Amino acid sequence: MNLVFASNNKNKIKEIQSILPESVKIWSLEEIGCHEEIPETAATIEGNAILKANYVTQKYGYDCFADDTGLEVTALNGEPGVYSARYAGEQRDANDNMNKLLEALSDQSDRSAQFKTVIALNINGAQHLFTGIAKGNITLNKTGSQGFGYDPIFQPENYTETFAELPLEIKNKISHRGKATHQLIDFLNPTK
Ligand code: IMP
Repeated sequence: MNLVFASNNKNKIKEIQSILPESVKIWSLEEIGCHEEIPETAATIEGNAILKANYVTQKYGYDCFADDTGLEVTALNGEPGVYSARYAGEQRDANDNMNKLLEALSDQSDRSAQFKTVIALNINGAQHLFTGIAKGNITLNKTGSQGFGYDPIFQPENYTETFAELPLEIKNKISHRGKATHQLIDFLNPTK
């Protein structure tokens, strides 16, 4: 089976390929000759995952999956959500984003939040959505140096460390992306 992952993130592609059976070959956007930027203009995380997967299936004719992730903060009515990457501006800087979020929550007692990943899979003419959620709280300060994005200020529920302090194996087990990815893998390879 050939399946395109609508991403050029080599780490994500390698990680998923390593878990799937050899009979499922994952292709990157580069490998199918898709060099343009795929628009991510939807108003929701689901919408962006669907946009990306449909773009590849409709324009290139391949079965395909795409993911999109956002951080939803309760006291901010779900913001930054779909705008997580560019919360503090088009420079998409993780530190600027974290500073803006800490500032926005400075007088809030409810610091609960969740990461949400949606994977949209187009296969054999049908579409399937897989959602992974990691609940937790936004800390008062940045702690830890691993990971990326909002990891230094996100403390997952049942842990005293932030995502940026946890080993990657643990983060992958409890994270939004890890959970959504495992649903995708179970769907593609139910016997494993
Ligand atoms: P993407 O859809 O995977 O590109 O994620 C969008 C944005 O959400 C990223 O640019 C990060 O700011 C944030 N984000 C996604 N996943 C994580 C994570 O695991 N930890 C921290 N931030 C994340």
